[in-house]
Amino acid sequence: MSSIADNIGSVTRRIQKATLQAGRAPGSVHLLAVSKTRSAEELHEAVAAGQSAFGENYLQEALDKIDALRDVPEIEWHFIGPIQSNKTRQIASSFSWVHSVDRLKIARRLSEQRDPALPPLNICLQVNINGEESKSGCLLDQLPQLVGDIGPLPNLSLRGLMAIPDPDQPEASLRLSFRKLADALTDLKASRPGAGPLDTLSMGMSSDLELAIAEGATWVRVGSAVFGARPPKS
Ligand SMILES: *Cc1c(COP(=O)(O)O)cnc(C)c1O
Repeated sequence: MSSIADNIGSVTRRIQKATLQAGRAPGSVHLLAVSKTRSAEELHEAVAAGQSAFGENYLQEALDKIDALRDVPEIEWHFIGPIQSNKTRQIASSFSWVHSVDRLKIARRLSEQRDPALPPLNICLQVNINGEESKSGCLLDQLPQLVGDIGPLPNLSLRGLMAIPDPDQPEASLRLSFRKLADALTDLKASRPGAGPLDTLSMGMSSDLELAIAEGATWVRVGSAVFGARPPKS
C-alpha cells in the first residue's frame, strides 16, 4: 500500500503534467484533497507531505476534524457537500471556501452569517451540468440571474463555478461537460463583470482530473487518489 505522501506526490505530478500539456501556466491548478471519511491522523499525514487545502462534504464530521486540527494553522478548509439552510452559520464561520452554493437563499445566509472581520467567504456556484434530476446544483440557464443576485452580497467573494459530472460517462461527453462549465464562466465574466473575481473552475476528481485540467480547471477535488479507496460509509 502506498503512503499518503507518495499519493500526493503522484497526484501532484499528474496535475503538473496535465497543466503543461494544456499549455497552461505552472501552478495554475490547485489540489483540493477531499478528506471525507478520513481521520484527523490521515490529514496530519497529508499536511506533513505539504498539502494544505482540504475538502469536506459532511458538516458534523468536518467540524470535528477542524476542532481536532485547530493547532495546524496552515490548513485551509473547503466545504463541498450539499448545504441545508439550517447549517449555514457553522459553514460561514468555519470554512474559507464553499464550492457547493446552488441557490440564492443559501448565499444570502452565508453572507449574513459570515463575520465581516474575517476575509470574505470564497464561494463557487455548483452547476448541475448535465441537468440530471437527482443531482444538486443550479441549471446553466439560471446562472446569469443567480450571479447578478449573489455578486453584490457583502461578505462573499464569488470565485466561480463547480460541477460534478458523472465520471463514468464516455470520455468525450465528460470532456464536453467540463467545457460547458468553462464556457459558462467565460460568458459570466463578460456579462457580469462586477460580480466577483470569477477566476475559479472547481472540476475534476481522481479519475478525470487530466480532462478537467485540459478544459481549464483551477481546483481539482481529489479524494481516493490521495487517501486510497474510501471505505463504504456506514
Ligand atoms: C468525494 C468527492 C470528490 C472526490 O472524489 P474521488 O473520486 O475520490 O477523487 C470530489 N468532489 C466531491 C464533491 C466529492 O464529494
